[in-house]
Amino acid sequence: RIIMGVESSCDETGIGLVRLHDDGTVELLADEVASSVEQHARFGGVVPEVASRAHLEALVPTATRAFEAADLKLSDVDAIAVTAGPGLAGALLVGVAAAKGYAAALDVPLYGVNHLAGHIAVDTLQHGPLPSPCLALLVSGGHTQLLRVDDIASSITELGSTVDDAAGEAYDKVARVLDLPYPGGPPIDKAAKRGNPAAIKFPRGMTGPRDAKFDFSFSGLKTAVARWVEEAESRGEEIPVDDVAASFQEAVADVLTAKAVRAAKETGIGTLVISGGVAANSRLSALARERCEAAGITLRVPRPRLCTDNGAMIAALGAHVIAAGVERSSLDISANPALPVGVVSV
Ligand code: ATP
Ligand code: MG
Ligand code: FE
Repeated sequence: RIIMGVESSCDETGIGLVRLHDDGTVELLADEVASSVEQHARFGGVVPEVASRAHLEALVPTATRAFEAADLKLSDVDAIAVTAGPGLAGALLVGVAAAKGYAAALDVPLYGVNHLAGHIAVDTLQHGPLPSPCLALLVSGGHTQLLRVDDIASSITELGSTVDDAAGEAYDKVARVLDLPYPGGPPIDKAAKRGNPAAIKFPRGMTGPRDAKFDFSFSGLKTAVARWVEEAESRGEEIPVDDVAASFQEAVADVLTAKAVRAAKETGIGTLVISGGVAANSRLSALARERCEAAGITLRVPRPRLCTDNGAMIAALGAHVIAAGVERSSLDISANPALPVGVVSV
């Protein structure tokens, strides 16, 4: 069966095509993404109205490219999966409306699915079925959560999450302080490679003995970096951008991997999946690999292209939901900007 995935929760318009095989494995056929990120860059963050309009313009051309890449026709599609939330209301609505249109016109079932679960499900396209249970560290622009996944199609529970900023948000804010472009993840990752991660000792939030075990905090780190840069500037010093980037990145990777490994040890779960845009970070995956190996944990990190927002992750999750026998969504579903991670399909 061929499943088409539609993603429009933020600033990426994604159309993915996958094949669900009879044995339950899911194969990637096409993954086309159009981004409006450049239109938001000068604002330092996504402008919702601009994102919605860009989705409207990009959706059909992106779908056309996906079908061309997979050498398929619209009539080959057996089901439509769409991001129902969480995300920007207006942006989500564009994808949901389009998906309903496709489902009605092609007379195929519609599945409204969770964007965050999609970030995890995408890993099955690269590494095969997920073991049950597994742990997932979801690190993206809007979320930072440690999850227990018993079944990607139906059972995800939160063990902990950030109490303030998401990891990606911290990257974007620190990039601004360092005069690096938006989104901040890629330029900080690059600058950090030239810097010394031990140059500045930035705080590791929520790692004290009295802090909640699996929660995170990044706003203190962000403030510490801003203050450090401000003080250096007030002394008339040139900012060692590479060292600040490397030291900040080290703090983020340290906290994320320490908590994830701790969760694996305490729950006895042997597999950790790291996904979401920040999982594209080179230091995070390297440190995770090192620490998981030492602790005997199997680590899975999708390739960077699959970590950031795309339609293939939604098609993949749709395929798992279908394989699990979940009932189709009604054509009346609406977007839910605050859909909780535990609600895999609507
Ligand atoms: P959410 O999934 O929570 O709704 P989102 O969809 O906007 O948020 P993603 O597209 O998953 O988020 O991730 C975007 C974030 O990933 C941005 O904050 C960006 O800076 C960060 N990011 C991308 N590449 C890297 C990298 N190499 N290193 C660190 N962060 C990165
Ligand atoms: Mg994005
Ligand atoms: Fe995302």
